[in-house]
Amino acid sequence: MAPRVAIIGAGFGGLCMAIQLERAGIHSYTVFERAGDLGGTWRDNSYPGAGCDIPSHLYSYSFEKYASWTRRYPGQPEILGYLEHCADKYDVRRKIRFGTEVTRATFDGSRWHVTTAGDQAKGEAGSTPDGTADSPASGRTGGPTGGTASGAGGRAAGRVEIFDVVVMSVGQLNRPRLPDIPGMADFAGVSFHSARWNHDHDLTGRRVAVIGNGSSAAQFIPKVAEQAGHLTVFQRTPNWVIPKPDAAFGLLARLAFRFVPGLQRAYREWIYRYAEGALYPALAQGWSAGLLRKRALAHLDAQVPDPELRARLTPDYPPGCKRVVIDSAFYPALTRQNVEVVTDGIAEITPKGVRTAEGLHEVDTIIYATGFRSTEFLSPIEVEGRDGRSLEEQWSGGAEAYLGISVPNFPNLFLLYGPNTNLGHNSIVFMLECQVRHVMACLPHLARGPLEVRPEAMAAWRRQLDAAMSRMVWGDGCQSWYKTAAGRVTNNWPGPTTLYRRLTARPPRPAYRRV
Ligand code: NAP
Repeated sequence: MAPRVAIIGAGFGGLCMAIQLERAGIHSYTVFERAGDLGGTWRDNSYPGAGCDIPSHLYSYSFEKYASWTRRYPGQPEILGYLEHCADKYDVRRKIRFGTEVTRATFDGSRWHVTTAGDQAKGEAGSTPDGTADSPASGRTGGPTGGTASGAGGRAAGRVEIFDVVVMSVGQLNRPRLPDIPGMADFAGVSFHSARWNHDHDLTGRRVAVIGNGSSAAQFIPKVAEQAGHLTVFQRTPNWVIPKPDAAFGLLARLAFRFVPGLQRAYREWIYRYAEGALYPALAQGWSAGLLRKRALAHLDAQVPDPELRARLTPDYPPGCKRVVIDSAFYPALTRQNVEVVTDGIAEITPKGVRTAEGLHEVDTIIYATGFRSTEFLSPIEVEGRDGRSLEEQWSGGAEAYLGISVPNFPNLFLLYGPNTNLGHNSIVFMLECQVRHVMACLPHLARGPLEVRPEAMAAWRRQLDAAMSRMVWGDGCQSWYKTAAGRVTNNWPGPTTLYRRLTARPPRPAYRRV
């Protein structure tokens, strides 16, 4: 009998899992999606200028080539459109339970009890500045494929359904992080987080503050600067920025991608090899590290003529320690007449604006581009494994998982985009496909009982990670969303992605045991 599989999350990872199950003829699965639509981060991040800085011919599934990309780096609506296309083509949408939040998953010794908060619409997206509310539910629901037990659990009364396997695919950047600045609640204007953009708030002519200058801010600042009367960018730490060689695909190029055999695959392969061959060594402090620094400094020189501003935009840590920003419009926006870059620390937020040592910067809108709660993997879902073990407790020193996928004491639980699987140089979709292939390879072994990763395999994995991590640029010199407050890098994969593909392709059996 096919295993009953619960997939949590309908972003790139969850959809990939659902599609591969469908393709394998396994239909006994349900995708639980908290929000009202699919798309994960590509649904949530709808800020002006949102897009991916990895070309979409690579940032897409290898099994679903797409000839419709209009440019090298398409915007968020196109990427979301691609995911919708995939969900429809592979007919997985009917298996997604929208507006259904999983609050708890408990292993009873042989199966998982999955508690949901209810199949109902939630509040409006963006209704709170931290975006704790989801998008409204679409009302599309599919029937459960897991057995149903009575009872309630988790934080809200809900129902409990029973599955053999749970695949968590909730992302690393799904929960906005608001800063802890005194007076935030007293601000009299409008404020929101970049991942919960308030599209009803017209920025035309307004005095806008942006707090943060990471990849998200770099994408929307040029758009906001064109609209706002005055824009103040509060920068705590400068980022390394390199140009984004974007280009539209003309009709001929699109026809060629559609009709020339092998062209899409060759182009994808070329982007992949460039990222792996030139960008990865820069993060591993290898041959291209100096070139990356030179490229970024030349970009800064070319785009920011004012030496005083240039100095304030020059990082004092190695490139790649924080995520390198890839954008060609960010620096020019900072040099506009109506844009000011403030680099002295924020002391407080008052009803009228943002106060620093320089004084009060009066604004009527604050946009928090302050990132995500990236190291709190799976939170706030309560996960209880074998013998009542709490995942939160097991991960109190930082999240970890074998291959980023499996956790000792948590049989038949698989993570997609789990600990140490993020990349600073290549496509996460590549990693997700490796993880889904691994889960698919595990499934036939579950027929004779639940599988759990062996502690020895986990220990060997930890040693391998530590050794590789020691040569990466993320360790010292900066704080970033890649690591815990204590400085442990829990988010990034430190090796080449070719190695990750090899490791995840190994037969699962020796690393796992039956419980
Ligand atoms: P982020 O990179 O974590 O940046 C957060 C920003 O907020 C930083 O500049 C940070 O300053 C600042 N900040 C946080 N707390 C603050 C405080 N209390 N006071 C002042 N400043 C504060 O978040 P993000 O820009 O949303 O990007 C997150 C990740 O999403 C990216 O690194 C990337 O992986 C992904 N992303 C990718 C793309 C893409 O094109 N592929 C686009 C957008 C996002 P410090 O640096 O000083 O901490």
